[in-house]
This record gives sequence, structure tokens and C-alpha cells, in this order.
Amino acid sequence: MKDKLLYEGKAKQVFTVADNPNLLVLSYKNDATAFNGEKKAQFQGKGRYNNLISAKVFEYLHEHGVNSHFKEALNETEQLVEKTTIIPLEVVVRNVAAGSIVRRIGMQEKTIFTPPLVELFYKKDELGDPLINDEHALLLTDVTEAELNQIKEMALRVNEQLQAFFKEIHLQLVDFKLEFGRNPNGEIVLSDEVSPDTCRLWDIATGEKMDKDVFREDLGDLVTVYDNILSRLEAKQ
Ligand code: 5GP
Repeated sequence: MKDKLLYEGKAKQVFTVADNPNLLVLSYKNDATAFNGEKKAQFQGKGRYNNLISAKVFEYLHEHGVNSHFKEALNETEQLVEKTTIIPLEVVVRNVAAGSIVRRIGMQEKTIFTPPLVELFYKKDELGDPLINDEHALLLTDVTEAELNQIKEMALRVNEQLQAFFKEIHLQLVDFKLEFGRNPNGEIVLSDEVSPDTCRLWDIATGEKMDKDVFREDLGDLVTVYDNILSRLEAKQ
């Protein structure tokens, strides 16, 4: 099924599919990076956790009417997706203040955002993914104003679904990052991954951080935390 390596990112490899130009295989790596690649490490099993957790998230979103690139998990570290042209935006939804918004504008950590806050970042490693506004997004990408509104509405809908999804396993969804792509029909669909690498998740009972901040802030063992999330998801079904 998997053919040529098309692209290698920080967390995943992307392969073409031998007999179908409209499909790709995503292979999740064990590498972890933070602070725009300045901090790096490898964790045995991390690729498996992100692949399996992201697959469960996309399956749930599909059941709840969110169009995405996801087709199926192929094995422990790989998944089959529809080929999309990634729109170079990182769409961040925040329910609670944490991370860059605290550093950037001095927001008090743990401030609740009602309604949730949507932020756009320009996906450009050389520039450290800067925060941009809607006008910048229209200048920098091929999305129309209507499509940008659609992307923001989809992000908020995903937020509602994911809040419920993670609440069932006793995790508070603090914030997360989404990426969108254009599929072969020209439609905008949710792409990339949704995992503890791309979300902030706090244990509802203890407030403990259960996401990539464990690595970013040296809070403990990342694999134990990701294993705990997958176990909770498996126990839920
Ligand atoms: P922040 O802007 O506070 O750094 O990140 C907000 C949320 O988006 C966090 O859940 C964070 O994990 C996610 N996020 C933002 N940018 C990136 C990125 O480049 N890579 C990953 N994996 N997650 C990101």
C-alpha cells in the first residue's frame, strides 16, 4: 500500500499510496519537538499513542458530522488519509488561558474564555508560526473570506465535540490546534492530527497536565501520560 516518502515533518512521515493518487499514509514518529524544534527528544511508543489516539478522535468527529481527511488506522503507527493540500494556517481554539496567550498578552492563566477564543497562526517554521489576523490569512493563503469563516465555524464545532469526547475520560480540553486542507474535490476538510501533542488536556480531578506540556515543561514521563489517555479511551468503549 505505502509507496514513496513524500514529506517528512517533525512528528510524521507522509507516504504516497501505490495505486491511488488521492490517498496518503501518515506514519507517526517517536520524535517529540517543542519551541519550534529547539527542544528535541525521542520516546519509545509515542508514534503508536498519537496514531491510535488521533484515529479515535477522528472516528468520533466523523460520527458527529465533521468532514476530515481520515480514512482508517492501518496498523499501530500508520493511518490512511485522503490527500489534501494543507492550508498554511494553525487554527487554535482556547477554552482556558494557557501557553502562548499568557506569555503574549499577559492573560491570567486559567481564565475561562466564554465564548471560546479562535486564533490564527501562519504555519511557517522560519518565522516561528506568528499570530496573524483574518486579513493576513486572506493575503497569505488561497482561502476565500467565506472559507475562512467556514474554517472558524468548523473549529468551534470540533471544540464542542472534543470537549464532550474528553470529558467522558475525565479530561478538560484547555486548548488545541487544528489544520485544514483542501481535498481533491476542492472541499475544505479537517486534516493533520488531533492528539495530546496538539491539545492541552488537564485531568478534571487533579488538574494534572496530560499532554505535550509534560515534555515542554519537564513535568514527568510523557509515555506514561499518553498511555494513560489511550487506556482511558479504550476503557470507554
Ligand atoms: P500555544 O499557542 O499556547 O503554544 O498552543 C495552543 C495549543 O495549540 C496547544 O494545545 C498546543 O499544543 C497547540 N499547538 C500550537 N502550535 C502547535 C504546533 O506547532 N505543534 C503542535 N503539536 N501543537 C501546537
